[in-house]
Amino acid sequence: MTEDISMMRKPLGRTGLKIAEVGLGTWNYHGGPAPLRRGFEAGALFVDTAESYGSEEMVRDAIVGMRDSVFLATKVSAQNLRHEDLLRSADESLRRLGVSHIDLYQVHHPNPEIPIEETMGAMEQLVDAGKVRYIGVSNFGMEQLDAACRATRKHPIVSNQVRYNLADRTIEDGLLQYCQANGITVIAYSPLARELSRIIDCDPSGIILRISQETGRTIAQIAINWCLCKEGVVTIPKGNSVEHILENCAASGWRLSDEAGLAPVRPADRRHRRRRDRHRAVPGGPAVTVGRAFRREGRRRLHDPGRRAGRGRGRG
Ligand code: NAP
Repeated sequence: MTEDISMMRKPLGRTGLKIAEVGLGTWNYHGGPAPLRRGFEAGALFVDTAESYGSEEMVRDAIVGMRDSVFLATKVSAQNLRHEDLLRSADESLRRLGVSHIDLYQVHHPNPEIPIEETMGAMEQLVDAGKVRYIGVSNFGMEQLDAACRATRKHPIVSNQVRYNLADRTIEDGLLQYCQANGITVIAYSPLARELSRIIDCDPSGIILRISQETGRTIAQIAINWCLCKEGVVTIPKGNSVEHILENCAASGWRLSDEAGLAPVRPADRRHRRRRDRHRAVPGGPAVTVGRAFRREGRRRLHDPGRRAGRGRGRG
């Protein structure tokens, strides 16, 4: 099943390096090393972990014999951003991962209590020592990112890992554009909104389902590919099973031909949606009837293994 997946790669910041555009998230991951290995074989040679996830040792087992092929990203927690704490955290991650260097070391969250210059000084020291190849951040807003960039002297920030999916487009309010303009890769976490039903819920008129029917791509693949259509954005979906991981890997290798066609799929403001649905809920009212039918069908298809093969004509 892996041989027809052609993983596309995207630039990592301005480093000249390209990384797989679908990586493997490991927060709350319980699948063990084997599904990750299958993901690597399918081209997702990029794995994301963190000192707080408790998955670094499992990642170590997954990359055995493949260290040089896998782009390895981990994170230092916000409470460890003092100079000495950060250096110690990095050493502990290196030990748990069983490697001599981390490819991308990310500040997990900003910590306003600790000067960013101190944190970035420690990060740059790790690069100079050969323990880290590239510096990244995560959950940094535009001002925080700008301050962090200005706090580095020799080694630039190459990525910002942030939540981005069809149901949460907050970064489109400026952060995405900032990253694109400054050559900072956006690593989109939770590209499936942590639960596909959330994406279906913000698409009451069933646009995603219609695209899925037309293209033979699954809803998860369309959601991931929508992120990948954006310049400078890569994704790290988490799947616990080989089936989910391979399905997500097959979100690469093609492009939605009409990504803008998904523009009407908007993040649902719950209160607004309840009000709107109440307003529309006249007996036999078409909007609610159609929306609910599409959502029901969408959920049914999430559990229909026949839709998961990742093959099909596509719109790309
Ligand atoms: P996600 O990837 O959007 O969603 C994961 C959920 O989707 C799991 O319940 C998974 O089920 C399900 N799923 C996966 N593939 C599927 C498919 N093909 N069809 C249907 N359902 C599917 O959410 P996430 O775990 O929050 O984000 C992914 C990664 O981003 C994390 O693992 C972590 O590495 C990173 N992250 C970073 C931060 C940060 O602060 N930097 C925050 C959150 C996440 P199964 O598990 O049963 O397969």
